Amino acid sequence: MKTFYIETFGCQMNVHDTEKVVGTLLARGYSQVETPDEAGLVLYNTCSIRDKAEQKVFNRLSSFKRAGNGKVFGVLGCVAQQEGARIFEKAPHVSLVCGSASYTKLPDLLVQLESGNRRVTGLSLDTDEAFETPLTRRDNPHRAYITIIEGCDKSCAYCVVPFKRGPERSRTSASILEEARRLADAGYTEIQLLGQNVNSYRDPSPSGWDFATMLARVAEVPGLRRVRFTTSHPRDFGKDIVDAIDANPVLCNHVHLPVQSGSSRVLDRMQRLYSREQYMRRIEWLKASRRNIAITTDIIVGFCGETEKDFEQTLSLLDEVRYDSLFSFKYSARPNTPALALEDHVSEEEKGRRLTILQERQRAIQLERNAELVGAVEEVLVEGFNRSTGQWIGRTSQNRVLNFLHAVVPRPNGVSLEGSYLDVRVTRAGPNSLAGEAVA
Ligand code: SAM
Ligand code: SF4
Repeated sequence: MKTFYIETFGCQMNVHDTEKVVGTLLARGYSQVETPDEAGLVLYNTCSIRDKAEQKVFNRLSSFKRAGNGKVFGVLGCVAQQEGARIFEKAPHVSLVCGSASYTKLPDLLVQLESGNRRVTGLSLDTDEAFETPLTRRDNPHRAYITIIEGCDKSCAYCVVPFKRGPERSRTSASILEEARRLADAGYTEIQLLGQNVNSYRDPSPSGWDFATMLARVAEVPGLRRVRFTTSHPRDFGKDIVDAIDANPVLCNHVHLPVQSGSSRVLDRMQRLYSREQYMRRIEWLKASRRNIAITTDIIVGFCGETEKDFEQTLSLLDEVRYDSLFSFKYSARPNTPALALEDHVSEEEKGRRLTILQERQRAIQLERNAELVGAVEEVLVEGFNRSTGQWIGRTSQNRVLNFLHAVVPRPNGVSLEGSYLDVRVTRAGPNSLAGEAVA
């Protein structure tokens, strides 16, 4: 029997790529197993945004070095693209190396593997195709992901994505809408549109829709209750996106808008294509919305040449925007990126100090932001039940986790609230989540 195990590292894009890879394998007669030990084919869908993620994959592979038990190993994603055939030298027991821009060739590569070929690669970045497949095996029964644009045409000085995922290629509006309708018909009520820079979307068909138009059309698909999107690049973030959110409540009131730094000098060195002032303009549009739009971001601390004064500007940006949540990272030098040519490296110790200060400041802001919601009634999509606390787990349109009490508790074969939309009154706030009680 053909069995496979797959482990995914990294971002939402990778998680969704895995869903498509899994669908492709199932359609070829493979069955998925829970552990590498049970599997004939062991796959790692990798990420190389920061070096720790990359080390993890090689650690996983090295634990099987002497296994020699007939398993076939494959490395997919960014590390595959970065290391290419060198992976065969570092880990000779690997047989398949395939970057995300070559996933359309996966069925052919599997045929080669099955016929005993032990050095199979898919590494071309020269593609104008996005990985579209009707075979996607979706992990979440309520929320479905749709990649609308792949690759990246920007060149931020620190980032490997343009070298790993190839040039930007958008799917046609017709194929996106067809997938959204199919998902709604299958019972999905929430859709998340994905892209490294989702708002750089441009319909390649004659209608040439921009991202705001695409967003508005997806939100009109009958049966959908929530539509989200990630990640937006500030440079391409137009006011028309806020207008679309204002016009249709199906579009969730949450925008993830990575700023990276609060210092225009650092943003310039990062080649981010906007200044602090231009970024703040977008924040003003969001704050002027009729909806209460949650704003989240990504920050890198300790980029080459970041002075204490630059860092203080990032802290002051946090105070000015009052983000609802953020992801923060220490700058990690990556192969082939333009930043390698920059000087004035910040020590690891100093990066760590800045990260701690930043996270503490943000924690205080989040506590305040969440406390503002106590007493409010929020609609949640119920995601599960936590047996240890006896609370249901819900998610608000703003993407906040709201744990709540409800008269219904799950019993075997009994009623489940999972997948339903309920009104919940917020009674308590922590820095990372809210607690509440269902409104009768
Ligand atoms: N395309 C999105 C944008 O431009 O905002 C970001 C995509 S990237 C996959 C996700 C996040 O990883 C970035 O926003 C950045 O904060 C972080 N990141 C990327 N390269 C990094 C590096 N070399 N060191 C530390 N963090 C990095
Ligand atoms: Fe990386 Fe910049 Fe492209 Fe985002 S926009 S994926 S940070 S190069």
